[in-house]
Amino acid sequence: MPRNKMEIETITNRIIIDENDCWLWQGALNKQGYGIITIDYKAWRVHKLMYILTYGEFDNQLVVRHKPDICNNPTCCNPNHLIIGTRKQNTDDKQIAGTMKRGESHGRAKLTESDVLQIREDFKNRINTLDEFCKEQSPIYGVGESAINKICYNKTWNHLNYD
Ligand SMILES: [Zn+2]
Repeated sequence: MPRNKMEIETITNRIIIDENDCWLWQGALNKQGYGIITIDYKAWRVHKLMYILTYGEFDNQLVVRHKPDICNNPTCCNPNHLIIGTRKQNTDDKQIAGTMKRGESHGRAKLTESDVLQIREDFKNRINTLDEFCKEQSPIYGVGESAINKICYNKTWNHLNYD
């Protein structure tokens, strides 16, 4: 645990606050996307650390979650965005967040590489026709049906063709 003001400042100096009042960790992240910091040779997840610093210790059977209705950002460590819960709740949060994230991207014109890979993956496993598939994916990613079509047939984003 950070024991003094200076150690707490080294944490807060690595945080940027965004328009959603999320405290975004600018330091190292683990594989799951959570901020991590090492204090006295012990690695902490930053959001958990901030939770304990603010609210105190909790039952170690439980985990610190991001409040699903406020924030789904694993790098966020704003104590107001954190809530304690079970591992099961945490997994459920992530599934819901994954679905919501796609919904939010509606109207966004820019696709990320992982979107493209996901579209191609979904395309391979589709159960509907190409037209239906494009119609279905278009609102999810906020791009036109023809853009989806081109991605499926590798006419765009060719640098992502690994196989
Ligand atoms: Zn947040």
